[in-house]
Amino acid sequence: MTLDWTNRRADRLRSLPPYVFARLDELKARAREQGLDLIDLGMGNPDGPTPQPIVDAAIAAMHDSRNHGYPPFEGTANFRKAITDWYYRRYQVPLDPDGEALPLLGSKEGLTHLAMAYINPGDTVLVPSPAYPAHFRGPAIAGADIYPLVLKPENNWLIDLAAIPDAVAQQAKVLYFNYPSNPTAATAPREFFEEIVAFARRHEILLVHDQAYAELAFDGFQPTSLLEIPGAKDIGVEFHTMSKTYNMAGWRVGFVVGNRHIIQGLRTLKTNLDYGIFSVLQTAAETALQLPDVYLHKVQARYRARRDFLIQGLAELGWDVAKPLATMYLWVPCPPGMTSANFALEVLQQTGVVFTPGSAFGDGGEGYVRVSLIAECDRLGEALRRMKDAGITYTSGTQASAPNSQSLIPNP
Ligand SMILES: *Cc1c(COP(=O)(O)O)cnc(C)c1O
Repeated sequence: MTLDWTNRRADRLRSLPPYVFARLDELKARAREQGLDLIDLGMGNPDGPTPQPIVDAAIAAMHDSRNHGYPPFEGTANFRKAITDWYYRRYQVPLDPDGEALPLLGSKEGLTHLAMAYINPGDTVLVPSPAYPAHFRGPAIAGADIYPLVLKPENNWLIDLAAIPDAVAQQAKVLYFNYPSNPTAATAPREFFEEIVAFARRHEILLVHDQAYAELAFDGFQPTSLLEIPGAKDIGVEFHTMSKTYNMAGWRVGFVVGNRHIIQGLRTLKTNLDYGIFSVLQTAAETALQLPDVYLHKVQARYRARRDFLIQGLAELGWDVAKPLATMYLWVPCPPGMTSANFALEVLQQTGVVFTPGSAFGDGGEGYVRVSLIAECDRLGEALRRMKDAGITYTSGTQASAPNSQSLIPNP
């Protein structure tokens, strides 16, 4: 008996935007099978090891059998205190560890579950386009009516609040945003945060800020945190992650800070879904938040060096990419006339280098690819050499070289 299980999926799953990169994944898989040397700059997965003191703290905590049972739902008191202490040290904003901070199984989990906790089918939710996929997939799972806030280069990829029609703003229940931004690498000045807080207060919108790149900033730039803005705590929460700052993506630890009532709603949902984070990992995360700044400077220096190296190399191929002040990404325009999916496919086929098509982040990402700075400079240099050899430049794209170019990845 073969039933059509795909068609029997719940509406909330079937309403998700289709996954359009099957072809890219298929090519990547085939390239690997062929033993081709892929240079994968497509993922957001940091390539460095977790700092040793964090690993050591986890090993020590593992030997303590008190850590082997169910952790408390709301996270350990020590980790919550480490979160609010860190937040105060970093932003001079006091928070109550009992209620204004909640540990999460990675921030993606919290971002998505917050949507489930606050959004009913048909509710209007404002989401930038392009955006980190959890910012629209979470609301989509909840059945939201998503109103895309299309970001534009001429506005430095900032949300244009004035362009949101009044009727839409009046209806909107939640707004997701993220600066420093994945995927555009854009940063927002403090004035922008003041404006968006005023906007959310005026229209009584729940403001969700994703601050994944709080610490990956360069050249003296200090990203603003939502809760630094007076009045933000009345209407907002901010998500943080250990994944990027401390190379802890596999550990699955993040947290949310902000309005206690909003956090309480998320917590209520989560008590029905999970049992929280393994206490061993909460102990390790505590250690991470207490590390001296020299660890941050090291990780910042790594990404900054790669940023400068790649921007210089791309300039030699005709690209004029401005230096982003934060994140681990470059947001690179496709050669004129090429869609982001076609450009990424061509680059992969001809060079074995993987970029993420901007359209993966919503229609507003069309015309760009995201390049992750997750390889050492020698590998980035190799990627640039291969692009040069294949004749891939900003002006020509791959079209000019197409007649005599060869795909590295043969059809089976
Ligand atoms: C990487 C990333 C996350 C994911 O964080 P986890 O804590 O690993 O789930 C969330 N938001 C943005 C914008 C990211 O780039």
